[in-house]
Amino acid sequence: MHVTALAGGVGGARFLRGLLAHLERSPELRDTTVTVVGNTGDDITLFGLRVCPDLDTVLYTLGSAVNDEQGWGRADESYAVHTELGALGVPPEWFSLGDKDFGTHIARSLWLGQGLSLSEVTARLAQRWGLPQRGVTLLPMTDTPVETHVVLDEGAGPHAVHFQEWWVRLRARVPAQRFVVAGMDRATPAPGVLEAIRSADVVLLPPSNPVVSIGVILGVAGIRDALRGTRAPVVGVSPLVSGRPVRGHADACLAAIGVPATAGDVASLYSDFLRGWLVDEADADTVVPTGVTLRSRGLLMTDVDAAAAIAGAALSLGLELAGK
Ligand code: GDP
Ligand code: CA
Repeated sequence: MHVTALAGGVGGARFLRGLLAHLERSPELRDTTVTVVGNTGDDITLFGLRVCPDLDTVLYTLGSAVNDEQGWGRADESYAVHTELGALGVPPEWFSLGDKDFGTHIARSLWLGQGLSLSEVTARLAQRWGLPQRGVTLLPMTDTPVETHVVLDEGAGPHAVHFQEWWVRLRARVPAQRFVVAGMDRATPAPGVLEAIRSADVVLLPPSNPVVSIGVILGVAGIRDALRGTRAPVVGVSPLVSGRPVRGHADACLAAIGVPATAGDVASLYSDFLRGWLVDEADADTVVPTGVTLRSRGLLMTDVDAAAAIAGAALSLGLELAGK
């Protein structure tokens, strides 16, 4: 069996870690392969290095190397380089990268500079973290550099900042007017992305941010059409519980695109291809588009076992809808 999942950072990575645990614990599912299509809209060039926050969060989480409290970055980190850059007065001071993390960005930037595509670089990094041995292929959504920017209207009138600046420095407190993904007009899906969606038995949408993670992936030409056209049921997990994101600022992102922050309204964003939607038991009475099968259960990924149970429930719904 083959499962394809779209993923942002922390919400996506924790779900995927649960999915792998579920597959590895289920004898009948052990041969399942998983392709992950990762968001690259959060990518940013800092200190001359290309940083791909969401891809790295997936790599570190699946490689058992993530800082679990934070949800991103490496466990057991030190910040000598960051401190030195601060002493040198090199901005931005609001984006802290650990020393081990810097190793990833140096390697990525070196390989990109040697002419490798982001897909090829990501495959090398995935090797480092043992993903192929676990049946996992991590693909960036596109090899074309793209960057999400946020249009703000504060003080000096409308202006745009990089998504990371809005999210990390401003903590999404300044209302976003809209999101603009620079480079998206030229972006084509990375090799293997459309095939992975078309040939999947089940497609899963983890509880990633519906606007700046999943929404950005869906903006790459051809991906949305592939989801509409695939025979595989597409099943998603709500990132909202009782109208609030479990972590982060998905509510501020939804406000910017004029969508109410409810589990059902998030499902509506995917209504042209979604077949199954898992919501928290607190949202069991939410309204989903016609044709979408709604299921409710606890959706807090408090640890790997909880995430495995949630991913297992999403996969089971997908298999049920596929008639398998
Ligand atoms: P990011 O790129 O690091 O922001 O991560 P994602 O886009 O992959 O996921 C962010 C979303 O995951 C947020 O909107 C959260 O509400 C959601 N999320 C995080 N933890 C949980 C959880 O335990 N349960 C559910 N249902 N959603 C979660
Ligand atoms: Ca992200």
